[in-house]
Amino acid sequence: MIFRWFRQFQRHQLWKRPIPAKWHELLSENAVFLEDVEEETKTAILRSVQVFCSEKNWEGCGGLKLTDEHRATISAQIAKMTLGMGVGEVDGEYFPEVQSILVYPEAYLADTKQHIGAGVVMESRDGRLGEAWHRGPVILSWQDVLATGRRQNFARNVVIHEFAHHLDMRNGRDADGIPVIESSDLGRRWREVTQRCFGQLQEMCRNGSPRLLDCYGATSLSEFFAVASEVFFEEPHAMRHHWPELFDLFNEFYFPHDFAQI
Ligand SMILES: [Zn+2]
Repeated sequence: MIFRWFRQFQRHQLWKRPIPAKWHELLSENAVFLEDVEEETKTAILRSVQVFCSEKNWEGCGGLKLTDEHRATISAQIAKMTLGMGVGEVDGEYFPEVQSILVYPEAYLADTKQHIGAGVVMESRDGRLGEAWHRGPVILSWQDVLATGRRQNFARNVVIHEFAHHLDMRNGRDADGIPVIESSDLGRRWREVTQRCFGQLQEMCRNGSPRLLDCYGATSLSEFFAVASEVFFEEPHAMRHHWPELFDLFNEFYFPHDFAQI
């Protein structure tokens, strides 16, 4: 309780500080999606960016020296994912289980001798790697983050992908494609719809004709959730068109309050 109060106090203090002037310039280049959001939402996203920049431990790897540009650009993508989860609010979604964010300059090679067991999701897609550790760090390739932020990475978002794994692992070390879902009705539909769409994607990938979702999502239900989350935030209109049931499901999960108002 005291910890929570102190956290809230710290956030209020943080928000009294002005947004660094250079953030506006670098985010207009590196977080192009901000052009499309209303001023009020943009202000909430920037508050959230302040929290992520301040509360997470940031570490550059592979010789990368981290600057405000890295921290603010990545934070804007995390904030985008929380738009329906109290973005910029004092008790909003700030992924408390993720204490550290490690950033490599580009796709990196992990030590293959490393033991990878339950609680770790390690990516190997198109030669790039990312990782999400159960109650541990997220590891990202800056090159991929930047390409997404500048809209040069169609339907992909490595930040959203890795943080979706964290949502997935909140109810257990093994990522199984089922995040914490409060509503039993949504939980039932979640299992039913994701299983069916996952099977459809597997079939499409076997036939060499995947529809919008990358075939990496056909490797497991966990990857299906992460890949579909990327598409939901990056290409929502196309997802609504091609995967309407899945879109509705994700809309209800990621925007529970908006959904309730409909
Ligand atoms: Zn993954």
